[in-house]
Amino acid sequence: MNSKHGRFFCRYPFKHAQVTPNDPAMPCCRFNHHFLDKRDKGNITDFANMFTDIREKMTNNEYVAGCWKCYEDEKNGNFSMRHESFELWDNDDVEFTGMEIVVGRLCNLRCVTCDSDWSNKWDSDSKDMGMNIRDKYVNEYDLDNIDVGIFKNIQFIKVTGGEPFLHRQFLNLIKRLALSGDAEHIDIEIFTNCTFYPAKLDETALLKFRRVDISLSVDALDEQFEYLRKGADWIKSEQIFVQWLEQHNNKNSPVNVAVAATVGILNVLYIYDLIHYFRGQHGLNVMLQTVFDPKHLGIKAYPDWVKDRLEYMVEAQFLQFHKKAEKFDKYHKKIRGMLKRTGSNASVEDLRKDIDKLARIRGDDPNATFDRLWKLLKL
Ligand code: SF4
Repeated sequence: MNSKHGRFFCRYPFKHAQVTPNDPAMPCCRFNHHFLDKRDKGNITDFANMFTDIREKMTNNEYVAGCWKCYEDEKNGNFSMRHESFELWDNDDVEFTGMEIVVGRLCNLRCVTCDSDWSNKWDSDSKDMGMNIRDKYVNEYDLDNIDVGIFKNIQFIKVTGGEPFLHRQFLNLIKRLALSGDAEHIDIEIFTNCTFYPAKLDETALLKFRRVDISLSVDALDEQFEYLRKGADWIKSEQIFVQWLEQHNNKNSPVNVAVAATVGILNVLYIYDLIHYFRGQHGLNVMLQTVFDPKHLGIKAYPDWVKDRLEYMVEAQFLQFHKKAEKFDKYHKKIRGMLKRTGSNASVEDLRKDIDKLARIRGDDPNATFDRLWKLLKL
């Protein structure tokens, strides 16, 4: 970032598109699609003529409503995806070099922060919760009909879902890119729920990519993991994790493993354990993302007295002795940012209603599973 870039400028809309089966393409995953202008919409085969309104606003240093999550991250003193865009690209030219593919909504899990837009397994819970769900979903992005020619300048692809390894067309794309030779100039990052390891043929194709980043969506260990990632079994996921870890530790493999954890009200007091296990014990990077939606699972909406108590506990966790404590500093700082007072005096009882409603539908017990949290709030 330099002085010619205003505080609203970002390189994502100039370099990157996120494609999804049920919505128009967007510049990135943080952008709120409700704010796309008709001049922003288009086909990725004509990248130069997409995101026109966003690009104009950014060039004129105007506020871009769809980017509010990045602005919020920055307000909390955190590194945003907008900041990251200046590390990923060194110029402002319009050039299609990065892609995020939301491969579809086929999934085997019903994570609490998810909904029917991202997991077909959520459909019954969504109806029981009275949530809005679309009349008709496209479950899988039509990758079979994308000409691999559009990948000729692509340097990196981020893959999210649903669960990518459940999508046949995504697995076909990996094999097509391996065969065309494009895989060799592409870094691929796959967000997977840690319940799948690819079959032999798919693994062989994957290992042809220049770099393979496997981001495991794990936000807690043991029973808290199974609650947040409903349908998963911690023991089985740990076995899958070990298979990925073997690739990570193999010097001849392009695979790097990291953990992508979403941090919200339920798991904030369990994040230290997660970091301890993945960072401290296995030396892996852990990425912490703030939960904003649904509101009752994010920390921000809760009253300041809740944030104060959580901060007290988080400080106690991070200040305990650990021989690799300095490796935890950045996480400590990030969580502190999430616990900053916001002036909210919302009612915990009101916010808990939807947590309890979903728990009743699923036969879960949040009081027992997240006892550290609720005991602290009862003091
Ligand atoms: S500012 Fe954030 S939300 Fe907006 S395009 Fe950049 S990365 Fe995406």
